[in-house]
Amino acid sequence: MSALATRTGALNLGQGFPDEDGPAAVLDAARDAIAAGVNQYPPGIGAPVLRAAIADHQRRWYGLDVDPDREVLVTAGATEALAATILALVDTGDEVVTFEPWYDAYGALVARAGGVHRTVPLRFPDWRPDHDALRAAVTDRTRVILVNSPHNPTGAVLDADTLALVVELAARHDAIIVTDEVYEHLTFGVRHTPIATLPGAWERTVSISSGGKTFSTTGWKIGWVTGPAALVTSVLAVKQYLTYVNGAPFQPAIAVGLGLPDAFFADTASALRAKRDVLAAGLEAAGFAVSLPGAGYFVVADAAPLGYADGTELCRELPDRAGVVGVPVTAFVHPDRRAAYASLVRFAFCKRREVLDEAAERLTRLA
Ligand code: PMP
Ligand code: GLN
Repeated sequence: MSALATRTGALNLGQGFPDEDGPAAVLDAARDAIAAGVNQYPPGIGAPVLRAAIADHQRRWYGLDVDPDREVLVTAGATEALAATILALVDTGDEVVTFEPWYDAYGALVARAGGVHRTVPLRFPDWRPDHDALRAAVTDRTRVILVNSPHNPTGAVLDADTLALVVELAARHDAIIVTDEVYEHLTFGVRHTPIATLPGAWERTVSISSGGKTFSTTGWKIGWVTGPAALVTSVLAVKQYLTYVNGAPFQPAIAVGLGLPDAFFADTASALRAKRDVLAAGLEAAGFAVSLPGAGYFVVADAAPLGYADGTELCRELPDRAGVVGVPVTAFVHPDRRAAYASLVRFAFCKRREVLDEAAERLTRLA
């Protein structure tokens, strides 16, 4: 979809990346690190300064006590953290439970590991999972329950009862919880609760995050894993032969970001919330039905009220008809279950205000 936007000159509300730079202190720190010669392989588990900053961050925001030398691993983005974790934990035939829709990498990684992907549906517009469906999906065959909250593509933040049920089911069936929290700081008046903070969760949870979203540095690919030493060591064993190490000068720069004052995190979220509101209002004015996201980069809109039953077809036509690019939600579900999501389109609002205003104006052409 990004290639389609480039080719047609349409506004790219497809792929989730910000069109503005993040905090100057973080960018300057990367320049300084390069100038200071931080350009060779960092330690395999990550630069000490970043591991310390990650541990401090977990304590400061969540009260989690993480040992920076044994319970933290720096990865090439959350993507490598996910890949290394799934490849480390999932053997042929092991089942992995996720919600559906899911972030696209999950299905591919489970397949690559030879696992079996079981899903629990989330439905537009409130995306609340049915707890009986969750109970039915998790069995003794389940090796991993992979949760993603705040969630891509829906922007949903899982409620406390659902998180508690995940922990209960994981304990009952001796499964590992893998949690993708890359949007942890981009919440709009909703509290993000890391599942690792729940009673009984830490010892069976691999937590994954990334600097990409929080600091608007998606191209730097600095991610991390936190969890009990035995699990982190398993993930390291895979990472060692995927990338070995990554992003030497960006690691101390993300450490600077993690140490920024509370106001930075609050301002980032409130600026993004204002953007969400602009795009959501624009989509509604254009005739879409909108699910207002509690967090993240994306809003899902239903094109059915406009008379479009097929979101994929609409997304192919959008550049010509409205000069905008979006992604059909069917890209995030199993091919057999596309019908339930057919008319839904995901739009990114992590863009400059003028881009969102222009997109809102152009979308009215669909009416
Ligand atoms: N998980 C989710 C839910 C995401 O939206 C993204 C961003 N595309 C990633 C993981 C990947 O993060 P990173 O860019 O740090 O690899
Ligand atoms: N997370 C972003 C998205 O879902 C970008 C990552 C990607 O394009 N693979 O659009």
